[in-house]
Amino acid sequence: MFNNKELFKASFQEQLVSRLGKSMEEATAGDVYKILGSLIRENIGRDWAESNRIAKVQEEKQVYYFSMEFLIGRLLGNNLLNIGMLETVRDGLKELGWDLDEIESQEPDAGLGNGGLGRLAACFLDSLASLQYAGHGCGIRYKYGLFEQKIIDGHQVELPDDWLQRGNVWEERRPDKKVEVRFWGRVEMSERDGRTVFETTGYEKVWAVPYDVPVIGHGEGRVNTLRLWSAESAVDPIKMAQDGQNSYYSFLNYSRSVQSISEFLYPDDSGYEGKLLRLKQQYFLCSAGLQSLLRTFEKLKLPYTELPEKVSVHINDTHPTLVIPELMRILMDEQGFGWDEAWDITVRTVSYTNHTLLSEALEKWPENMIRELLPRIYMIIEEINKRFCGQLLEEGRSQEFVSQVAILESGQVKMAHLAIAGSNSINGVAGLHTELLKTDVMQPFYELYPDRFNNKTNGITHRRWLMHANPKLSSLISEAIGSGWTTSPLQLKELAKFKDDRHIQDVLMGIKLDNKRRLAAYIQDKQGVMVDPESIFDVQVKRLHGYKRQLMNILHVIHLYHEIKDQPNVERVPRTFIFGAKAAPGYYLAKSIIKLINVAADVINRDPQVSQQLKVVFLENYSVSLAEKIIPAANVSEQISTAGKEASGTGNMKFMMNGALTIGTLDGANVEMFDLLGEENMFLFGLRSQEVLNYYRHGGYVARELYHQDARLRRVLDSLVTEGPFCCHEREFEIIRQALLDHNDEFFVLRDFDDYAAAQKQVEQAYRDSVSWASKSIVNIANSGHFSSDCTIERYAADIWDIAPVRRES
Ligand SMILES: *Cc1c(COP(=O)(O)O)cnc(C)c1O
Repeated sequence: MFNNKELFKASFQEQLVSRLGKSMEEATAGDVYKILGSLIRENIGRDWAESNRIAKVQEEKQVYYFSMEFLIGRLLGNNLLNIGMLETVRDGLKELGWDLDEIESQEPDAGLGNGGLGRLAACFLDSLASLQYAGHGCGIRYKYGLFEQKIIDGHQVELPDDWLQRGNVWEERRPDKKVEVRFWGRVEMSERDGRTVFETTGYEKVWAVPYDVPVIGHGEGRVNTLRLWSAESAVDPIKMAQDGQNSYYSFLNYSRSVQSISEFLYPDDSGYEGKLLRLKQQYFLCSAGLQSLLRTFEKLKLPYTELPEKVSVHINDTHPTLVIPELMRILMDEQGFGWDEAWDITVRTVSYTNHTLLSEALEKWPENMIRELLPRIYMIIEEINKRFCGQLLEEGRSQEFVSQVAILESGQVKMAHLAIAGSNSINGVAGLHTELLKTDVMQPFYELYPDRFNNKTNGITHRRWLMHANPKLSSLISEAIGSGWTTSPLQLKELAKFKDDRHIQDVLMGIKLDNKRRLAAYIQDKQGVMVDPESIFDVQVKRLHGYKRQLMNILHVIHLYHEIKDQPNVERVPRTFIFGAKAAPGYYLAKSIIKLINVAADVINRDPQVSQQLKVVFLENYSVSLAEKIIPAANVSEQISTAGKEASGTGNMKFMMNGALTIGTLDGANVEMFDLLGEENMFLFGLRSQEVLNYYRHGGYVARELYHQDARLRRVLDSLVTEGPFCCHEREFEIIRQALLDHNDEFFVLRDFDDYAAAQKQVEQAYRDSVSWASKSIVNIANSGHFSSDCTIERYAADIWDIAPVRRES
């Protein structure tokens, strides 16, 4: 429809008139965005329908990726890229007087996720479609995404993210596909034809209405579906009145409680949120998603025993674990299967990804909450647990072992245990993480089901994070090694041949400088802070969490400040430290760290002497679109979590792919990066995960001793609370000092400080040799193809889902 520039311009102008009744002169950037959106929708409509048709007639196995979060970000640019129209549209718009970058920024950044877990789901969708797999997303259409962060007076302030306010050009509301979800009620048992049947009465019903978003694959026209569910009233107010319920107010109450189900995303990245509403959201997703995929399955007219051959249900962490008892319920109560057969079908259909080892983030629900909200589901969980534990005892396992792995324990439902017992595959998200799962956190389960455990190291889509975010670097790569890498990212490896090529090095560093200039302009514009594009851009952007150790970074920055103050005339490479991070609104310590970063930035940036050599910037509202601006401009990537705590990390991969060098611990996927890169291309420091584990198990670490021994640490920590410029009124940072000294520094910030400072010295030293820096940067890019989510998805497809790319009948 618009396969060349002139055709595009013509249809664009025609749509402007026919849809909006506007001329070119009257159109706003928002109008242009909307028209582009609808042009793309029209363009892919046929492919979308065709992909759906194939699903029904060709009987290809379908994967459904269930996730409470999809951090998809903006779609316009990536969709244009994937249909191969990005440059045509850019040029066409330019001739019409519009800048595509500006048009792209009109799109709200869909923030239906907290961080890495939600972004992984989005990258996976892109890879599934681009590799021609039939893999769909199943999530919730939150009215409000993750809060928008404003920094006021150095503090984080949370504002609602009203992302749907101006409509969503990508979604298609499908009321014809709505399903009913039931809460509350009582289970009644009766005998029918010699079988016990279970029926729930007195329940509250809610409509789940899907909004479908096309997931447009790169190149060959596969369009999958991200189906996002929205909750709507399923009760007729007239009927309610006739039933004698005090009509108007009870209807309003009901309606409000229904709407709240898909109202907002819980702004909590890890850690337990004990809210009934959150449980409602989880069941809402599981029940609606399952009913809907089973409707599609039923079109094949196959017996349910063949479900596992036609459908894979994958759960992204334990949040959608209720698919397991819900599928059991449907198979037994609605399809008439007995327990054993239903269980066999369920386990063969479901697979599970574990995302965390942090014990506070392993989900648990109070038994009585599930019993009340979901009485039939509770009965099924109870029965799963009874049979599971009973069988273990029968096999001769000790009572102690059984209580370790029990699903119900001390009045709580342990979701990870349910997920493991009820699925055929359990994967960790990086080699180290999977090893720790097997040997530590989930060790007894590994003993039970060694074959179910496997590793699938996370990945990122190189289409968004390299081709779209860094087009100049992409062009350079294609000039050097051809464009095969865009469809086979492992080919990036060929770039390594050019690591000592002076021309490629120069162009690469020129592109980096260009990206840094653009980011500097953005910082100037947003923050009024002038940063030097020639300085080292050292970046830490990710959720704020104790284990990610933004605190270590800022304490080191304060230490550098002291160094410069003491010896202002020593020649140093100027540095700009850039932070971006949202803290969970109830996470007090994390919010104090944000405040500290902002106070430090203020003091340092205003100091006429220090600010020549050191600048600190905190960019507010870290999000996918901001990540796309920042990461291509980074020289140094901070991946400094306490070893053993970061399951994988994906930010680390994005930076590597854009040529930043990593300073990091041997944690998560950093371990695999290090295996690929070797020590000459990465700055490694800090405790190893085994050492951290040993401290946790056997003690032996006293943070206060380090404070007394190390004058630098003493000076930095004292400057937060007493003398020194970083002390805020009301001793605001006392809590930080307490966490480190009184609570013995849970994340080993002080323990790793010295090693970190030494590694940072090496970074500075290495940056002075720009030729060798460029060479290391090339080696990083060359090895980053390994972390494309295309590679990750190929392995999920082969090892877990057993699916092959769908071939179109031509
Ligand atoms: C990639 C990404 C993350 C995950 O970053 P980590 O460094 O792996 O924690 C979080 N938020 C956004 C917006 C991202 O794009």
